Amino acid sequence: MKCSACENELQKIVVAGITVHACLGECGGLWFDRFQFNKIKLLQPGIGKSLVTIERAEGVKFYRGAEHPCPACKTTLLYRHFFNADWDTEIDQCSKCRGFWIDLAGLAKLQTLPANQRKQAVEKYFNTIINKKLVGMRFRHGDMAEQALILEQIFLFLCPDYNRPNR
Ligand SMILES: [Zn+2]
Ligand SMILES: [Zn+2]
Repeated sequence: MKCSACENELQKIVVAGITVHACLGECGGLWFDRFQFNKIKLLQPGIGKSLVTIERAEGVKFYRGAEHPCPACKTTLLYRHFFNADWDTEIDQCSKCRGFWIDLAGLAKLQTLPANQRKQAVEKYFNTIINKKLVGMRFRHGDMAEQALILEQIFLFLCPDYNRPNR
C-alpha cells in the first residue's frame, strides 16, 4: 500500500490490536481501515499515542493542492474532511471503503513542548483546529454525524489529552 500523499510504501504497525498503515520516515500520515473502528472505541484513551510521533522526514511537502487517491482502493479519490496548512493537519476519507487518512503533523510538533505547556497547547489545537469541524459534521446528515463520532474515537485513541466537544 502506498502513501496517498507522498507515495512512500506504507508500513503496517499494530498498536493495542489496532492495525494502522503509516507513512514512516516521510509525511507521517496514518491510514485506518474501517475494520479498526469498532475495536478502537473499546480501548483506553491515548494507548495509540506513539503513532502521532512516528518518525517523519524534515520539511516534507505533502500538501500538493491535488486530491489524494485512496491507498486501498487506489483509483478512488479521498474526500477531504479537514485541511489546515498552518497546522499541518489533514483528515481525508475514502467514500468507497470508508477508511480514514489522518495526518496530524501539527499535533506531533506540540508533543515536543515541556509538559506544563503541552496539555494546554494540545487542548487549544483540538478546540481551534479539529472540534469546530467535528461539531459541524454532527449537524449534517446521519452518516456524516457517524463519521464525526468515529473520528472522535480515533483522536481519543491517539491522544490522551483529547477533549471531545460537548454534545
Ligand atoms: Zn506520506
Ligand atoms: Zn478506499
